[in-house]
Amino acid sequence: AKPVFQTVNPATGEDGKAYDGHSLDEAKAVLGQARAAFEDWRRTSYADRAALMKTAAAVLRARKDDYAALMTAEMGKTLADGRAEIEKCAGACDWFADHAADFLKDETVDVGGPHAFTTFNPLGVVLAVMPWNFPFWQVFRFAAPALMAGNGAVLKHASNVPGCALAIEGVFRDAGFPEHLFRTLLIPSGDVAPLIEDDRVAAVTLTGSVGAGRKVAQAAGGALKKVVLELGGSDAYVILEDADVDLAARVAAAARMVNGGQSCIAGKRFVVVESVAEAFEQALVREMAGFQAGDPTSPDVRFGPLVSVAARDEIHRQVEASIDAGARLLLGGEVPGKPGAWYPATVLAGVVPGQPAHDEEVFGPVAAVIRAKDEADAIRIANASEYGLGSGVITSDIARGTRIAAEQLDAGMAFVNANVRSDPRLPFGGVKHSGHGRECSRYGLLEFVNVKTVWVE
Ligand code: NDP
Repeated sequence: AKPVFQTVNPATGEDGKAYDGHSLDEAKAVLGQARAAFEDWRRTSYADRAALMKTAAAVLRARKDDYAALMTAEMGKTLADGRAEIEKCAGACDWFADHAADFLKDETVDVGGPHAFTTFNPLGVVLAVMPWNFPFWQVFRFAAPALMAGNGAVLKHASNVPGCALAIEGVFRDAGFPEHLFRTLLIPSGDVAPLIEDDRVAAVTLTGSVGAGRKVAQAAGGALKKVVLELGGSDAYVILEDADVDLAARVAAAARMVNGGQSCIAGKRFVVVESVAEAFEQALVREMAGFQAGDPTSPDVRFGPLVSVAARDEIHRQVEASIDAGARLLLGGEVPGKPGAWYPATVLAGVVPGQPAHDEEVFGPVAAVIRAKDEADAIRIANASEYGLGSGVITSDIARGTRIAAEQLDAGMAFVNANVRSDPRLPFGGVKHSGHGRECSRYGLLEFVNVKTVWVE
């Protein structure tokens, strides 16, 4: 039976367009086509790949407004954020087009006589399972390096963004990439495991929740296939007693409110040293109150609805359970009485272990303030999480902040006096339950290649 993907506009709760999906047999036929396209693509030059990738960047820029509107309709992102996201995707295409050849150059190794070198072959067709929160960026930050390295790709996107999923396939097709090299499959998550087992899938990448990551990693493990996992996060920012509290509050609010709080690298826990806690809480409430939810299609609105009513209800449950367990509500925390997935910017103080705001990832606009005795206590609290994606330190002592970021925070990324962000030039990924492997940078490019040794006598 063929699945149907019904979209829902999060701002209104009304149904949008519905899309017919692929049966498992159809999906497997697409795999065969992608595999055949890869066999030709792997023999193309970096220069030819780069020219196509630059065209993909141009296609993205030319259609920026349409793609932003599509994201707004399917998952509620503001138009302004959507436009910025498309620009970021185009930038990543350009950047990998410019650097892939250099990053994948053969490397001669002196073995005292024979000619030995390392060369980088593509792996094949990579299956990408992606989430809805940055519907374009999540895909492009994987696809730009993977295709530049000579791989093919099939995309299983989140079920609520089928229009975005098809639009992304269209970017590569219209840019002139070989037919079938990048294909979108509109399939339910239950069809992912049988595809992973298919010989024509070489490797898997997933961005999403811990639960989905575990399932996909199990299937990939059973099939002995490489997997990259970018999972959740509960990023902590340590605010030291020497911090400028206004700067700390600005960084914290910006970090928390990325994409309406629906980002794996959104700041979720703000661990503040006692002596500045009161001042920081007041400043944070001021900054968070500046995020007034509004119509996401309005060009100057920076905070729209959440992705769905179900997601909103889960966030509200986490807030209420935290308050019941002793957290103090300083801002927000009430469900507005109108249709759609609306929730206000919310601040909880007095957050301690045993409360969902402390123990779980809160995937929405809810800032949790946790008090610490001193620097060591704050670092201990920041690290006491199942996750280890991003992290931050706010301090007026740059050397101290740099030392804590580099040596003491158990996370894949640590930012001093700034909010965590992803950048094609820098490795992106986590430790612990935030996953393994890296995206972006040369490290991301190397995830889906066969690092081959060649020895010639
Ligand atoms: P999910 O994990 O539910 O969905 C992500 C993707 O995985 C979707 O395509 C989904 O498909 C698919 N999926 C879900 N379950 C399975 C399964 N059992 N087998 C195969 N595929 C599956 O994520 P959410 O929608 O809950 O997204 C939010 C989560 O993702 C948060 O925890 C967040 O932190 C994390 N995330 C991590 C990021 C990172 O870079 N580390 C970035 C963004 C989000 P379908 O929609 O059909 O269920």
